[in-house]
Amino acid sequence: MRSKKIKTFYNTKQVLENDKTSNYSKSPLKPKLLLEYLKNKKLINNFSVTDDFRPFTKTDFKMAHHQNYVDDFFNGIGLCSSNSLAWSKQFAESVRYTNSSLYSAIRHSIVNPKQVSFSPTSGFHHAGPDRGRGFCTFSGQVIASLKIYNEFGLSGAYLDLDGHFGNSIEDSREFCKKLNKAVPPNFNINPEGYDSSYLANLATWLERTKYAILSNRIHYVVWCHGADSHADDNLGRQCNTEHWIACSTLFWKWVKEMDGLLGRPLPVSCALFGGYRDDDYNSVLSLHTGDFVECFKELLGVDVKYTIEVHPRQKIEYYDNTRLRRKRRSLDKKGR
Ligand SMILES: [Zn+2]
Repeated sequence: MRSKKIKTFYNTKQVLENDKTSNYSKSPLKPKLLLEYLKNKKLINNFSVTDDFRPFTKTDFKMAHHQNYVDDFFNGIGLCSSNSLAWSKQFAESVRYTNSSLYSAIRHSIVNPKQVSFSPTSGFHHAGPDRGRGFCTFSGQVIASLKIYNEFGLSGAYLDLDGHFGNSIEDSREFCKKLNKAVPPNFNINPEGYDSSYLANLATWLERTKYAILSNRIHYVVWCHGADSHADDNLGRQCNTEHWIACSTLFWKWVKEMDGLLGRPLPVSCALFGGYRDDDYNSVLSLHTGDFVECFKELLGVDVKYTIEVHPRQKIEYYDNTRLRRKRRSLDKKGR
């Protein structure tokens, strides 16, 4: 029997509070916003939250990165903004916690497979050994899986359903010699296509992963259902709401099937990844919540009440405001 609550690795220090910069990405604040959203929707009691994990040290980051990049980043010089985010001391501290949260969640899924683990984090899958890229600072997946491999000799699969290809693992294979064992080739999975073809592609990959697990080549999976694969996201295009949620249903049903085939719970953890709606950030939070609702329904047998609130992108807003401003201006002139 699986635990009914999702173990969540969240420390307030992983959040970039009081972000006064003009950062395009809200990802550094997303863990906090999502937990508040879950509280408002009366779903937070289904999560068992712990802040009991230690921040990563420079030594951890150097497992997957050149020394000069790690030093630059923590000193706030040189390549420190290669992730396209404004650097600050607090931001630098926060990434020690986001990376550790992901590792701690994956580790927990291995030592306590009955419990689904969750790391409310993003900002890993575009980083490379020599620098950050695209809102990503360090290769959290690479570091986590290397540490897991070193400790347990186990290999993992990442199901990366962010809207953008997660290049971090592939770009690190040469720099990190053990990575081919920690995340075997073909198991940094990034489905392709749109709506039903995307869903079909995910199903194909889940089938391949099933055989890799049954033949003892893959021992744990990490589910990263980024919200920027939603068609209405600023940076997204792949799935409408129905298909985005159908991916979640398919995945959590598959986990249940795997538990049955293995006769024990499959170690599963999840993370957030992208999501950038600037017209309605609640839609991003709602998609992530919808993913958990499928987990509760399909895998954990918990009855939760929640209605998805993803709103269509308001494409005419700018036009309307412009018209409104013109109208006001003409009224002003008439008044004068
Ligand atoms: Zn993305």
